[in-house]
Amino acid sequence: MDLELVTRETSNDAAVTVLRAKAQLRAALERPRREAVSIGLVPTMGYLHDGHASLLRAARAECDLVVMSLFVNPTQFGPGEDLDRYPRDEERDLRLAAEAGVDFVYAPPVEEVYPEGFATTVEVRGPLTEVLDGDPARRGAAHFRGVATVVAKLLNSVGPDVAYFGQKDAQQAAVIRRMVADLDIPVRIEVLPIVREPDGLAMSSRNAYLEPADRERGVALSRALAAVRDAALAGAPLATALAAGRAELAAAAIEPEYLEACDAETLEQRSELGERPVLVAVAARVGAARLIDNVLIDPANR
Ligand code: AMP
Repeated sequence: MDLELVTRETSNDAAVTVLRAKAQLRAALERPRREAVSIGLVPTMGYLHDGHASLLRAARAECDLVVMSLFVNPTQFGPGEDLDRYPRDEERDLRLAAEAGVDFVYAPPVEEVYPEGFATTVEVRGPLTEVLDGDPARRGAAHFRGVATVVAKLLNSVGPDVAYFGQKDAQQAAVIRRMVADLDIPVRIEVLPIVREPDGLAMSSRNAYLEPADRERGVALSRALAAVRDAALAGAPLATALAAGRAELAAAAIEPEYLEACDAETLEQRSELGERPVLVAVAARVGAARLIDNVLIDPANR
C-alpha cells in the first residue's frame, strides 16, 4: 500500500491530512497523545451533510485535535442492502472536513480494516440489538454487530477522549454507549441532536436516493413523529399518540416498517409516558430510500 501522506488544501487555506493506514494514524497521533492533547473522533461513512458538520463543529470546539473517519463499513450492510450504491464523494468530503477544521481524515480501504484472517466480532446482546432496526425481519442484529465491531476498532485505532455520534441513529448510539460501558473503553460518548432540512426531513446521505416526489413524501416521517409527541404530551396514551403518527404516514401513502415508542436507554417498548425519556422511532421505505427518524419525549423537560 502507498503510505504517502496526502494533505488536501482548500481555496480558503484550510487543509486536512488524509491517512489510509492504521500505521500512519498511529504515527500521526503519537506526539499529540504524548503531549496530552485532547482528541475528538467523528466516525462517518462520508457523503457529508450538515448533520455530520454539527458533529465536526462540536469536536472542533471541545477538542485540541479532531479526527474524522471516512469508511463505508461493509459489515453493517445486509445482503440486498445498498452497499454498492451508497453515495460517495471523497473529494467533496475532504474539502468539507478541511473547512470544518478537521486535522486528520482516516479513510482506510476495506482490506486495512478487515485484513485476511479477520475473525473477531463485537456483539451487544439483548433487546438493544433485537428491536426496531435489529428485528430479524428488518436489518437484524447482524447490522449492529457490524456497527459495534467497526466502532470498537476505530476507538482502538484512534484512542479519542471523546467520540461524537448523532441522535439520528438513536439505536446505534444506545448500542455504542452499552458497548463502551461493557468493554471499559476509556472514551466519552457525545450524542448530538438531529439536524433537519428546513421542512423537517432529517438530513441523511441516503436522501440522495429520493426522487423529487418522494423527497416531498419523506417529510411525513418528521410530521408523524411531531404528531406522536404532541398527542403524548397532551396526555393521550402512547397507543393513541402512535395512531395519530400512523395517520400522518398513511396520508403520504407511507407504510412504516415500524413506528414505536420505547425507553430511550433500554429500547424496551413503552405504553405510557412515565418518568423516563421515551424514544419514538420510525423507519419506512420511501421510493428508493429506506429512511429512519426519531424524536425524544422527555416528560421532565417538555
Ligand atoms: P453516517 O455517515 O450516516 O454513518 O453518519 C455518521 C454520524 O453522523 C452518525 O453518528 C450519525 O448518527 C450522524 N448523523 C447522520 N445524520 C445526522 C443528522 N441528520 N443529524 C445529526 N447527526 C447525524
